[in-house]
Amino acid sequence: MAKPRVLIVGGGPGGMAAAVAAAEGNASVTLLDQNPALGGQIWRGGGPTAPSTVAQSWFDRLRRLAIDVHPRTTVFAAYRPGELHADQRGIAKTFTYDRLILAPGGRERFLPFPGWTLPGVVGAGGLQALVKSGMPISGQRVVIAGSGPLLLAVADYLLHAGARVAAILEQASWQRLAAFGLGLLRWPGKLWRAMRLRLAAWRIPYLTDAWVVEACGSERIRKVKARTARGFREWECDWLACGFGLVGNLECPSLVGCRVVQGAVQVDEHLMTSIPHVYCVGEPLGIGGVDCALIEGQMAGYAAAGQLDQARRLLPERKRWRRFAARLEAAFTLRPEVRQLAQEPTILCRCEDVTLGQLKDHENWRSAKLQTRCGMGPCQGRVCGPAVEAIFGWRHESIRPPILPVCVDSLLASTQTEGVQHALAGSDARDHNALSN
Ligand SMILES: Cc1cc2nc3c(=O)[nH]c(=O)nc-3n(C[C@H](O)[C@H](O)[C@H](O)COP(=O)(O)OP(=O)(O)OC[C@H]3O[C@@H](n4cnc5c(N)ncnc54)[C@H](O)[C@@H]3O)c2cc1C
Repeated sequence: MAKPRVLIVGGGPGGMAAAVAAAEGNASVTLLDQNPALGGQIWRGGGPTAPSTVAQSWFDRLRRLAIDVHPRTTVFAAYRPGELHADQRGIAKTFTYDRLILAPGGRERFLPFPGWTLPGVVGAGGLQALVKSGMPISGQRVVIAGSGPLLLAVADYLLHAGARVAAILEQASWQRLAAFGLGLLRWPGKLWRAMRLRLAAWRIPYLTDAWVVEACGSERIRKVKARTARGFREWECDWLACGFGLVGNLECPSLVGCRVVQGAVQVDEHLMTSIPHVYCVGEPLGIGGVDCALIEGQMAGYAAAGQLDQARRLLPERKRWRRFAARLEAAFTLRPEVRQLAQEPTILCRCEDVTLGQLKDHENWRSAKLQTRCGMGPCQGRVCGPAVEAIFGWRHESIRPPILPVCVDSLLASTQTEGVQHALAGSDARDHNALSN
């Protein structure tokens, strides 16, 4: 019997584990990632920092197997089942598959506040990524703010890189964090890591019930104003690293037609989505972290290779990590105040310069988009979508190709392949509009 051709989108921990499991299950595996190196957000295989031992073991396993790896390959369109279109360094590529595993990970959630567009205000993970890529930070003053475990991880990393971290502002209440901490007894590895991170940053004030209300400066950020449990406070700084948790990247699954309910891709016990032979793992199923992504990647890899028993054996472990994910979500739920930090002149859509005042009278995302171009710039709503959802409750659901910025030649070429014109002619008007955007 011919080996199933398994195509994997995303070379983070989830996609790497899926590739290893599928290849060990005797499938023919192709792995695509838009980054120059595998490893995703956390391992960033190409960065100057040495990956952890766990990461190293996955890189080693992957290298030992015959896996066709395509870095710098951005999947941007899917017009027909069994086929994805990608841009590989400006060249159009079409990848076909029998089974597809989507492991596109997640991204930071940004919530707008006055001054958030000033230079020097960046995502928490974003600043970490810049420093990992070689940007010097030594001696510079950083305030870290937002929500979630990433804040501590970033503080730890920046301290090691020589930054002067002035404060960590966590919007969640200490009661929620205490309950979360106690619950971590069931995940001793996570508890140990949280304690280690907090101890490493013990000199730095870690304020709960605290959030940024304004970033001040003219050419660049100079000062952060924040609301804390003891009233308003200010810190002088060179950088404000601010992220309010993560959101799953739903663009690829939506493009292929997978059912998404309340911000999470729906899957069965083998992680197959609503589309037959299309699997999804990691953050698009709900933010679960690296351990969850690794288990789910293996499950989907085995399932796609036809090794269903192997996949099912990992189900209890998956359930355990999904319980952890549910606790994480409960502990760091956004409080109403941080959803309302933006004021009328505050820009919400940075690509198209659309302010809160221009959006507030619309009833839904579609109307706002049509009248203001909110979400129609290069990021296609990846930044303002979650922000608008947090502020107005509008879901960003109209996903169209190209889901990521790509070379125009690749976009054109993707529509010229045999049969695509026909498929496009049969699709609804929205897709035609997208292609002419
Ligand atoms: C900015 C940031 C920083 C983080 N830092 C930490 C940290 O310090 N510590 C920690 O424990 N966790 C961190 N996390 C969380 C951690 O990255 C995830 O929990 C974990 O990596 C999930 O693995 P994954 O494989 O599901 O996704 P990811 O690691 O995000 O991998 C997804 C991969 O898919 C690729 N991709 C997505 N869409 C496409 C496409 N259309 N075409 C081609 N490739 C595509 C991306 O390039 C990426 O490499 C961070 C997350 C973010 C967003």
